[in-house]
Amino acid sequence: MKIKDYFSNAKKHLSVINRHRKEVRKNCFRCGLYKQGLLHDLSKYSWTEFSKGVIYFQGDRSPNDAEREAKGYTSAWLHHKGRNKHHLEYWVDYDVKKSAAGMVGMKMPDNYIIEMFCDRVAASKIYQGDKYTDASPLQYYEKGKGKYILHPYVKKKLELLLTMLAEKGEKYTFAYAHKWVKEYKKRQRKSCCCKCCTCGGCGCKS
Ligand SMILES: [Zn+2]
Ligand SMILES: [Zn+2]
Repeated sequence: MKIKDYFSNAKKHLSVINRHRKEVRKNCFRCGLYKQGLLHDLSKYSWTEFSKGVIYFQGDRSPNDAEREAKGYTSAWLHHKGRNKHHLEYWVDYDVKKSAAGMVGMKMPDNYIIEMFCDRVAASKIYQGDKYTDASPLQYYEKGKGKYILHPYVKKKLELLLTMLAEKGEKYTFAYAHKWVKEYKKRQRKSCCCKCCTCGGCGCKS
């Protein structure tokens, strides 16, 4: 790749990240997830993730797909999913029941399920542009569904939100999610020893 292509890709990749974060922030704020909205995907600015995004920049799909095709694995994605709790892959771990499945999806806290939903809506909007409809995030999920390692609770809740968006639209779905966040935070505060509501009640200081 020529040096001028690096600069041009860096500019385009930075703009995609910023636009994506802005969309997610908007969605998260509509759900009452202010802190998560502000901190979403900050690791994308790290050298490990940003440099790969520049080399494998695509525009209409994730650079992770291109890096995976080229190298057989994705260093940027491995870095990203290990640091961002809104990704279902962050929660894949050994099954405590020691079932034959081996690795399974853990039960994600509700606030991260909702951030994952906000993320998927934003990503569909950025990548699909004019072709985006309220059904796009559900269609994208349906395409990859067979590959996801999801806890049954997470699967049920994510599908509920995606289907609701496709059938009833954004206003209804974000209002529903906002109510859900309020109830979740109330539950967390009740079970937390210092009422901080951010420890995942109550894993305080851990
Ligand atoms: Zn992310
Ligand atoms: Zn994101």
